[in-house]
Amino acid sequence: MSPQPANETEAGDRAAELARNLARVQERITAAVAAAGRTERPGLIVVTKFHPASDVLDLVRLGVTDVGENREQEAGPKAAEVAAAGAHPRWHFIGQLQSNKAARVLRFANEVHSVDRPGLVTALEKAAARREADTEAVGCYLQVDLRSAADREAAGAASRGGVLPQEMLSLAEQVASAEHLALRGLMAVAPLGEDPAPAFERLAALSHSLREVHPEAVEISAGMSQDLEQAVAAGATRLRIGTEVLGPRPTVG
Ligand SMILES: *Cc1c(COP(=O)(O)O)cnc(C)c1O
Repeated sequence: MSPQPANETEAGDRAAELARNLARVQERITAAVAAAGRTERPGLIVVTKFHPASDVLDLVRLGVTDVGENREQEAGPKAAEVAAAGAHPRWHFIGQLQSNKAARVLRFANEVHSVDRPGLVTALEKAAARREADTEAVGCYLQVDLRSAADREAAGAASRGGVLPQEMLSLAEQVASAEHLALRGLMAVAPLGEDPAPAFERLAALSHSLREVHPEAVEISAGMSQDLEQAVAAGATRLRIGTEVLGPRPTVG
């Protein structure tokens, strides 16, 4: 029997590792859904930032339909490589987004989870309107800042964590009235150094107020590798999981 070339073995090992990790995450989600007494399972977005297009292709083969990225410079070429290989997952943009990058992000992203200010909505609508006429509307999640006023103050004015809760409804109105954007719901990251459970409960309450005005905006994008159980308990409909599926990200240096 001739030995397999090393690179093929490595590729097979990686696919097997991703399959194992994915199965473990799915088990965690199943357990969390059961513990919360929920009937509907939240959708899984696998966050592939820092990991190569080959991992995205393996994930698609394993049945993953949705992937998340947070940097346009990295995600654009990766999405192009994945599409060239014939795979077409839905791409979710989950990182901070400068208005002048909106058009570049919309070249690949189907959904944007980090909509946090009026200027960005204007830029997204303008870029979306320039795309081909039959392109689907851009799914928009309003990223809300779940930090307490005191923590926000301590972090300084430059730290943006999303739209302030009291400004959520006016931002929602702007997205809902934009022809090429579709208001999906809310997104949040649990504040650092705080128990995620009460933070996600605040998010659930905000989602409730949002749905009173925009009944279609049902999505709650919350829950990462460390806090998916708390997010599921609070009603998350979309989980954004990176490390638990792909392993640690290389540190940026
Ligand atoms: C990186 C990232 C995730 C995934 O985080 P993990 O801890 O690796 O699961 C989720 N949401 C956002 C906004 C991220 O930037």
